Amino acid sequence: MRTGVFFHPEFSLKDWPIIGNKYRNFPEVMRKVLSQEDVTLFESKPATDEMLLRVHTPPYLKEVKQAWYYKGASLAVGGCVEATERIARGEIVNALAFAVAAGHHAEPSSAWGGTYLSCTGPAVAHVCDQIGTRRFAILDTDSHHGNGTRAIFRNDKNVLHVCFCDEDRIEGDGTKIDVDVGYQTNDGEYLEKVRREFFVRARKFKPFMIFHNFGHDTCEGDYGDRGLSQSFFPLLAEEVKRCADEICEGRYLIITHGGYLRDIAETIFPRIIEILARP
Ligand SMILES: [Zn+2]
Ligand SMILES: [Zn+2]
Repeated sequence: MRTGVFFHPEFSLKDWPIIGNKYRNFPEVMRKVLSQEDVTLFESKPATDEMLLRVHTPPYLKEVKQAWYYKGASLAVGGCVEATERIARGEIVNALAFAVAAGHHAEPSSAWGGTYLSCTGPAVAHVCDQIGTRRFAILDTDSHHGNGTRAIFRNDKNVLHVCFCDEDRIEGDGTKIDVDVGYQTNDGEYLEKVRREFFVRARKFKPFMIFHNFGHDTCEGDYGDRGLSQSFFPLLAEEVKRCADEICEGRYLIITHGGYLRDIAETIFPRIIEILARP
């Protein structure tokens, strides 16, 4: 078994905050790739309170539990935590975890932008407890700044966070980096920035695994349009996978983030699974 895909039927049933119903035709649109020998579909399980309280405050968790999207958010986090643990244990090499209502805008006690629970926070905390592994790299190529991820790991020097957004900034001890990608860019320029600003740092940092907050809201016509084409996204996944192969034995988890255009999601995610499953 090489590649895990973490999904739950709940994700296809609702019109989620910000990203809408882009998973309406999933997992059907992935049927062909899911039948590949090296790909396994896992049904995401809800995150436990214990996992969520590692990063969120009790009053905040109590509040978010009242929201209609809580079930989806909790399943998204649970999928990420399980994917991380299975990768860390060597049961799978890499994975694609689908997320709704959870992701990089969720801070310990507040959130916005359609993501209300942290995915990487509980995943890192859980795997540190279970396996004792500490060093992680988080790449964020959603169109928007990953304020939640940054807030959660701000003082953790064992987490490299490189976020491609709107300004050039290096915070703290140099493990928290933002890169201005420009309001309008193109596939080649963006990839070159990822090579220069993420790959170079990740090689030096030597993480145990790479998390990738993977938005496609940067695509032409989507709500965070930076002028990227649909073919950019599989190329990006392919390059990061190669980087993970080189520096951390291939351990790589893609977590879906922003973007609401269904045709883009239906095109890129099956293709990305094919890429992850390649030896
Ligand atoms: Zn976004
Ligand atoms: Zn940023």
